[in-house]
Amino acid sequence: MKPWEANIRNVTPYVPGEQPKEADVIKLNTNENPYGPSPAVKKAAQEFDTELLRLYPDPASRVLADALAKRYGLGRDQIFVGVGSDEVLALAFLTFFNSDKPILFPDISYSFYSVWAELYGIPYERPALDRDFRLRKEDYYKENGGVVFPNPNAPTSLALGLSEVEDIIAHNQRSVVIVDEAYIDFGGESALGLLSKYENLLVVQTFSKSRSMAGLRIGYAMGAPALIRALSDVKYSFNSYTMNRTSLVLGAAALEDEAYFQETLGKIRATRERAKERLGALGFVCPEPSANFIFASRPGTDAGALFEALKERNIYVRHFDGPRTKDYLRITVGTDGQMERLFEFLENYL
Ligand code: PMP
Repeated sequence: MKPWEANIRNVTPYVPGEQPKEADVIKLNTNENPYGPSPAVKKAAQEFDTELLRLYPDPASRVLADALAKRYGLGRDQIFVGVGSDEVLALAFLTFFNSDKPILFPDISYSFYSVWAELYGIPYERPALDRDFRLRKEDYYKENGGVVFPNPNAPTSLALGLSEVEDIIAHNQRSVVIVDEAYIDFGGESALGLLSKYENLLVVQTFSKSRSMAGLRIGYAMGAPALIRALSDVKYSFNSYTMNRTSLVLGAAALEDEAYFQETLGKIRATRERAKERLGALGFVCPEPSANFIFASRPGTDAGALFEALKERNIYVRHFDGPRTKDYLRITVGTDGQMERLFEFLENYL
């Protein structure tokens, strides 16, 4: 071993879903939105003055933070903007989970949480979801260094009721509680309304799913001004200019088109309900889906083999090889046409 090798920080990284290169792929594996961003975003992109790219962007991301503050009825000092909710969450872990006590998150949830905890050396515990993949709020009533959970959960798509979310926040007023609402626009009740009541709550959302802008990388956190200030201080100690000019302008443009947002959400929810019915008719079972994906299992069918067979036919879904997840596939809700191709395959395969 070379002497410098002993100083290398060795980590096991998060592995995102595949981004296949072939044309004609049915891509239902990374919870992207099939409808594309609002036409208002296209227009803003066409009008964008590339001459401005010679200048650094606004480190405070004001154009976008103001638009978000307006959309959600909050003050600008309650909004933090970052490069996807992944960056927002990574900075939030670094800022708020700074205790010797373990942070808590469910055993089955977003697999990036343990990666960040390992990277920063944050101790963590993962209370097990019950056998129906429900989060038991009482598991979060013990002493901890912080709490984080996705709502709706990923990869299960199951939402936790707002009163249970509130119980968890209320029982943890000595810690910061992060509610990761990457999928909340597709179902479930947001914890945003609790911000006026709890200064230990941070709600994190994203433009990647419901606003169909995963490629631009925009995420945001909403919370009490003291939390947002602390988060910003950590960001400014890391990189002043995380958000590029294009993202700020196009993100703000997306927020102006509420009608398109609601229309595409409605389409995805309707396709999800139809897909749930059809999966049920084919013998699949799934926790009640509230996100833009369905976590489905078919007793007697090997999910790993089905995943491979689908992939061979250029239909990409996600399979997580854990002991409690290996019998399930996580299927992103695509267009009706894409789902039809999936069902044609499943009907033949089964
Ligand atoms: N939280 C959850 C639960 C997710 O599934 C994802 C998507 N992988 C993210 C956060 C991060 O999404 P993004 O960085 O695109 O906002």
